[in-house]
Amino acid sequence: MKKFQKIPLAMPLIGRKEISVVTKVLKSGQLSLGPYKKKFEESFTKLIGTKYAVAVNSGTSGLHLAVKCLGLKPGDEVITSPFSFVASSNPIIFEQGKPVFVDIDEKTYNMNPELIEDTITEKTRAIMPVHIFGQPCDMDPIMETAEKHNLSVIEDACESLGAEYKGRKAGTFGLASVFAFYPNKQITTGEGGMVVTNNERAYKLVASLSNQGRSDDGAWLNHVRIGYNYRLDEMSCALGFEQLKKIRYILKKRGEIAKKYTKKLSKIDGIITPYVSRDVKHSWFVYSVRFDESINRDAVMHYLEGHGIATRPYFYPAVHMQPIYRGMFNYNGSDFPVCEKVSKSSLILPFFVQMSTSQIERVCRTLENAISEVAKK
Ligand SMILES: *Cc1c(COP(=O)(O)O)cnc(C)c1O
Repeated sequence: MKKFQKIPLAMPLIGRKEISVVTKVLKSGQLSLGPYKKKFEESFTKLIGTKYAVAVNSGTSGLHLAVKCLGLKPGDEVITSPFSFVASSNPIIFEQGKPVFVDIDEKTYNMNPELIEDTITEKTRAIMPVHIFGQPCDMDPIMETAEKHNLSVIEDACESLGAEYKGRKAGTFGLASVFAFYPNKQITTGEGGMVVTNNERAYKLVASLSNQGRSDDGAWLNHVRIGYNYRLDEMSCALGFEQLKKIRYILKKRGEIAKKYTKKLSKIDGIITPYVSRDVKHSWFVYSVRFDESINRDAVMHYLEGHGIATRPYFYPAVHMQPIYRGMFNYNGSDFPVCEKVSKSSLILPFFVQMSTSQIERVCRTLENAISEVAKK
């Protein structure tokens, strides 16, 4: 077989400035709790427009602390989406709560707001919308339902840095919201995350819990609650601070690549390209396609792999179909039909800022060949 140059699924955009700022931190000798944590947090609040931000060492840590702000009691319920990464619902379980899933909208893949009301019980404390793939959820009805039933909202904004809903930034709706900086996200710190909030009490709690439960004055050996070490180190904060300066460029580029993909792929029979609601400014996290019933998704995937193109079924299995969730909550695979259908028929394609037009064309051409050669059911 011919040797193909591989096209990866994702790739961070690391330039000379990132390398130089991280080197500067290393040379300074101050590798934690230094000036870059503050700088990164401050520039983040400027971008999102919240009063507060706390840098943490992963999106999962951030979500854990955001859920902590709810003060759940054992058995309390939080409504969220099954079409997500497992890190969105796991923190509810860390805190002895119960994630209660609602099915998704077939076009946006986000939680279907119309289904929330029916899942509310006397144990429901909060709603956790996940802005999947960088497209904000339909927040008006979600906030309305939350207000009506006196529920808090925590946004999993880990995939949606810079996205907007009706002109308002994702991450500004909830009591607390969380962003993530794993290397495949819009910006990266290696591992890392950020909790944002406008609520002073939530801010103080998150700041303290992320720093071993220290008191507000940060006195080194004064622990007023049982906390964690979820701090983001200075190398990561410096990297994030530098990456954030390029966010406009990154989002613009990602938008352009998505547009090129859609232009080519929407002409291919059987492919459903991403839908973008008119209410949102999409922050492209991944580029996902869905196949209609005539196409075998796994055959497409294997064909592309054989031609040096990385893809991944995303999210498959959905959260409720993960072995641990099935076992804990007795899901059987027909609980959330839209989610299950989308999960079984979608694939994410290579997607990163440095992608060239010829790489995009090669992915599209190979995808088309896959469908005509091997994947028709
Ligand atoms: C990336 C991501 C997270 C956080 O993941 P970490 O690897 O812990 O940073 C949480 N939720 C969703 C939906 C994500 O995509």
